[in-house]
This record gives sequence, structure tokens and C-alpha cells, in this order.
Amino acid sequence: MFEQFINIYSIVITVVGLIICLFHYIERPRRSWIYVTASLLSLLLSNYYWTTYTLLMGDDPSISSFAAYFGDNLCFVPILLLLIHIHRKHHVRWFSPLSLLPLPLNIYQLILYNGFVEDGDFIGYFNNYWQCFVTTCVAIFSLNLIFYYFKNRKTGFPKPYVAFVTFFYMVFEYAMWTSSCFDWPSEWLDPYNYFSLLAFASLVALPIAILKTHGGKLFRNQREQTKRIRVIFQPMYIAVTLINSLGGYFLAMWIRDRLNESVQDAESTSAYEILDVTLFIVSAILVAFSIAIIFVVNYVNKAAQTDRLREEKNVAEQSNEAKSEFLANMSHEIRTPINAVMGMNEMILRKSLKARDEMGEDQEELRETFSDISNYSGNIDNAGKNLLSIINDILDFSKIEAGKMEIITGKYRLSSLLNDVSNMIYYRAKSKDLSFVVEVDEDLPDGLCGDEAHIRQAVINILNNAVKYTHEGGVRLRVSGRTQHDSMSNTDYIRLTFEVKDTGIGIRKQDLEKLFAKFERVDLEHNKSVEGTGLGLAITRNLIEMMGGEVSVESLYGSGSTFTIRIPQEVVSHEPVGDFRQKFEESMEKIKAYEGSFEAPEARILIVDDTKVNLLVAEGLLKETKMRIDTASSGADAVRLANGTTYDVIMMDQRMPKVDGSQALQMIREQKDGFNKTTPVICLTADAVMGAKERYLAEGFTDYLTKPIDSKAMEKMLIKYLPEEKVTLTVTQK
Ligand code: ADP
Repeated sequence: MFEQFINIYSIVITVVGLIICLFHYIERPRRSWIYVTASLLSLLLSNYYWTTYTLLMGDDPSISSFAAYFGDNLCFVPILLLLIHIHRKHHVRWFSPLSLLPLPLNIYQLILYNGFVEDGDFIGYFNNYWQCFVTTCVAIFSLNLIFYYFKNRKTGFPKPYVAFVTFFYMVFEYAMWTSSCFDWPSEWLDPYNYFSLLAFASLVALPIAILKTHGGKLFRNQREQTKRIRVIFQPMYIAVTLINSLGGYFLAMWIRDRLNESVQDAESTSAYEILDVTLFIVSAILVAFSIAIIFVVNYVNKAAQTDRLREEKNVAEQSNEAKSEFLANMSHEIRTPINAVMGMNEMILRKSLKARDEMGEDQEELRETFSDISNYSGNIDNAGKNLLSIINDILDFSKIEAGKMEIITGKYRLSSLLNDVSNMIYYRAKSKDLSFVVEVDEDLPDGLCGDEAHIRQAVINILNNAVKYTHEGGVRLRVSGRTQHDSMSNTDYIRLTFEVKDTGIGIRKQDLEKLFAKFERVDLEHNKSVEGTGLGLAITRNLIEMMGGEVSVESLYGSGSTFTIRIPQEVVSHEPVGDFRQKFEESMEKIKAYEGSFEAPEARILIVDDTKVNLLVAEGLLKETKMRIDTASSGADAVRLANGTTYDVIMMDQRMPKVDGSQALQMIREQKDGFNKTTPVICLTADAVMGAKERYLAEGFTDYLTKPIDSKAMEKMLIKYLPEEKVTLTVTQK
């Protein structure tokens, strides 16, 4: 009676444990739940088999019955895995020899058990050894974790609830097995039964221990989605378990009665083999159903997770777009006032230099004052330019991050690109007393197709760094390449190589990796005074990689660095660049020739800007050219003025309220009398985001100048677009 009660009780306990595990797994899929579920399942199967068998046969299954014992033994494996999982999670690599204490106990129990196995019963021996081995491992692992906890609890090591429960479970199991090896006067006095009760009770504590470990609650507010799964599965699981168990029992009974009614001795006829199989199938359905639940939950959770991720991705994308837009607007808003500051500052610089030079010998004090003023404003100029380059870097980077950086390819001349780049660096290097040498292979093809603007930006970035981080010696730019023919597309390609070598401070080996990461600046103890954002190289690498190229660096700390850009470009004309150095020097002569700018008293230009101070700046900067300058403070004004006068050049601000630059341009071009149908209209804008130039040119502007206005660039542009006969170049001595 008592034994039957224990059998039923064990089934109920394991089913309850299973339900707790499975439904917590639905709520939060953790690996621990799967381990406990697997353990309880195999135990349930074994108990079910055992109970049904004893109920039907009035006898225990023999020790070699695979289904009865193996299920029981298998249940320790997931428990062992669970303990290993917990050990790993807490990085416990420590081992206490005291944890080996259960070993002699287990050996004693093995000897006792083996006494019941008949000679040649291999399954019986296997069952015993297997059980002994796995349970010893479980006991040792639990004890070790418990000792570790007592050693480290002051440092906040969490209570190993699972280890406590498994340890007690093992203790009760040992006691139960050992007592089953002895004869007792009655089943009420048999300790086996009482230890069984305790062992199963501690098993049901396992899910609770896991809840405690992960900080969960037995009953808690469920999420909508899991609530739905529970409502469907909870009753279904209980129903399937009950129907299956009872159904299996009746089926087995029916088979027994039909096949062999007169059998007395369990396992002696084929009827019992059929019974074995029937019970096995019934149990397998239970397993399949439990596993199905785990799969469904996984699937539903994954689907929900994908939905959530998709939603989060959308939100992130939207906020990224908002960020890019915000940055583009900020760039405009910041550039507009800087335009005023830098323009006015340039006028102060010019005026103070002029005043200084005009002071007589007797006005030494005033002369010095003007000299100081020009120094101060020179500093403002430098700081302003730095600020601008920082804004440009941040803008470019935000564009790259937002995936909005586009590669726009077109035909260009390599010599002109090299000329621009060298021009710019030549002055920077000169102002630091550094040499700047350009070596270009004479037979490189001049006509190429690619994204000229981005290549120029990347090469300038690298060259700028070389100048920035070099204090003596110089910088050398070597350009070479190898042409290849692609027979598939029947085009020629060149792998252009730009090698920038400097004699600067160099980079430590361990810093080389970090260089190209965003916002990463290295060797700060030496570079504190050098301004930078740490974005230049990140932008450069991104741009070059987007164009299918690569950037590499070699450096010797203290003696200099070599940055190399390799990039494939399509060749459209094989005309060689020739002796670039000579061409470059000639162009430098020309630049020097008009360094003092120009005069054009006959020319008439119109400047349009809605910010008054910007008009003042532009007017002031161009005062010495003696041109006739009209100004308009709105798009509508500009249209009105353009309707009565033919201008030689119109400089048009882009962002203006009501009628913006592009609309004004359109209206001027479409005017009936056509005073300015062909007048070059230069877009003057603070919108310096990459790709802006292309956009404005596509809208019909003749050219593009960014604000803050660089007076030299503005003068060069005017020389280019004013009618040649109206312009007189003036040379000033420097
Ligand atoms: P930054 O705006 O600081 O110049 P970059 O991304 O262009 O940012 O460069 C990252 C870091 O790499 C710099 O802060 C500097 O320490 C180092 N670096 C770049 N180029 C050189 C060079 N030619 N010589 C020495 N150090 C360099």
C-alpha cells in the first residue's frame, strides 16, 4: 500500500515539477530549465514504467529492465550538466579535496548493489556502474560548489541553491538505495519508503532553486504573449499526461489479460515483452509532447524577438536619420556665424597690416599696436579654420555612419587632382619650414574615371596628418600605379598608389591598430598641442574602402611614418601625366603671380545673402578689387535687381526664407528680358556636406563656394568667371 502510494506520489511530483519548468521556460527561455525538464522527464518515464509494472505484475521489474533503470540513471546526466553550467557561469575553477567525501560511500553502495546481480547480467552491472559513476560526479560537483560558497561568501558569491538541492537529493537517494539492500520487518518500517518521499520532495525543490538563482518568482505577472501560450499549453500538458498515463495503464492491463491470462511469473513470456514496448511507446509520447512544447516556445519567442528587433532597428534608423539631418542643419547654422567672424577678422587683419605698414618712423608705438592686432587676428583665423575642419569631419563621419555617403564617379584628370592636393600641402608645409616633395611616375595615365572629390579628400587627410605630426624634415608624396586590362568589361584599370612618407614623430607599434578607429587619437603625451578629432583616418579608411581600395601604415616610432593608399581606377585616356614636378612648379609661379589678387572696376556683380553681416563681409573682402557690387538681402530682391541689370557674376546664398537660392536662380534664368540668362551664378552656401556641391551644380549653379568665405578662393573664382578683358591681375610683393 505504502509503496503504491509512493509510486503515485512520485509521478504527481515529477509532473508538477515538469509543469513548473516548462512554463517558466515559456516565460524566460533559460538553459537551466531545459536541464531540469530533461531530468524530470526521464524520471517520470522510469517511475511511470515502474509503477505500471508493479501494479500489473504485483512485482518489481528485474534489475536488467532497461526502461525501469535506465530512465532513472539518465535523469542524473542533465543534473550533472546543470551543475557544470553553474560552475562555468561563476567561473569556479577551484577544487576542494573534501568534495571527494562521497566517494567511499558510493563504492560501498556499489558493492551492496552488485550483490543482487546475477552472473552474466551485463545490463544489471552496467546499470549499477553507470548510476554509481554519475551520482558520484553530481555529489562531488555539488559539494565543491557548496564549499566554494562558504569560502567566498564574504566577497558576495551567490548562494548555490541548485547545489544545495542536488546535494540533499543525492544524500536521500544513497540512503534509499542502501536501505533497499536490506530486509525490513514491514513496509511501514522500511526506511526506503521514507527516503523516497524525501528524495522526490527535494527534486521538486530543484525548479524552485533555479527560480531563486535567477531571481524569478513562482507566480508572477505574465507577459501577454506568454500568457496566451500558457493558457493553451498548461491544461493540454496536464491532460496529455493524465490521459497518456491512465490510457497506458489500461492498455497494458488489457494486453496482459488478452495475451496470457495464466502467466504467474513476470517476464517469462512474450506478453511481458509486448507490455514493455507498450509502456515505452506511451512514455515516448510524453517525451515528444514535452519536447514539442520547448520547440514551440522557442519558435514563438524567436518570432517575438525578431519583431522586437525589427521595431528597434526602425527606431534606430529613424533616430540616425534625425541625427544626420540635425548635423547638416547644425553645420549650416554654425557656418553662418563663423562666416561673419572669419570675414570680419580678415578685414581686421588686412586693415591692421595696412595701417602698420603706413605708420611712419615716429609712430613706433602705434605701429606695434597694429602689429599686435594683426597677430591676434591671425590667431583667430587659425582657430576658425580648425573649427571648420572639425565641423567638416564630424559631418562627413555622420554621413558615413548614416550610410549616406555616396561614391560619385566621373571622368577627371589625375594631374589636376595632384595639382590641387600639392598646392594645398605645399603652403602648409612651407609655413612649418618642412620640405614637400612630390614624385609622380611620368607614364601614369592622366585621364581616369572615379570619385575625384573623395580621393582628393582622402589623400589630403593623410598629407595633412603628415604635416601636422612632423616637426622637422619633410613630407614626400609618391604616386605610382600599374595598369591592367580587364577582358570581361574590355576596360583598362589602374591600381593607383599614393605613398605619403614623413619624418615625423612616428607611431608606436601597439598604437598602429587603433589609428583607424573613430575618435581615436594616439600618443597624446606628444600630441596634446596638435588639434584633431581622431576622425580623419576613420573617414579616410571608410572612403577608400567604399571605393574598393585599402589604406596601410608602417611606422618607426621617433623617426617617421609611411601611409599608403591603394585604389583601383578606370583608365579613360592613356595620355601620360608627364613631368608633374615641372608642371607643378609652373603652376606655383602662376599662383604667386596673382597672389595679390585683381582689380576689375568695369565689372559689376551681385551678391545675395539674407544675413546682413555676410553681405558686409563679402563687400569688405572685395573692396580692393574696385568692382561695382550690388547686394540683395533676399531671393525676391535678387530677382528684381537681376531684371534690370546684366551682371558679370552673381553670388547667390542658398538657404534663404521664402525664395531660396535655387528658386531665385530658376526665376532669373527664366526672366522674359533675359538680362542674366548666361551670367555665371555661384552658389554661396554654408551647406558643406559631402555631395552638396554635386547637388547644386545639378540644379544649374555654375560653381560652388562654401562659407565661411575663403577670400583667396573667392578671388580665384571671380578671376575664373569674370570676363577676361575686365580683369587686371595685380601682383603684390610678399
Ligand atoms: P586627428 O584628427 O587626431 O589627426 P586622425 O584620425 O587623422 O585624427 O589620426 C589619428 C591619430 O593617428 C592622430 O591623433 C595621431 O596620433 C596619429 N597619426 C596620424 N597620422 C600620423 C602621422 N603621419 N604621424 C604620426 N602620428 C599620426
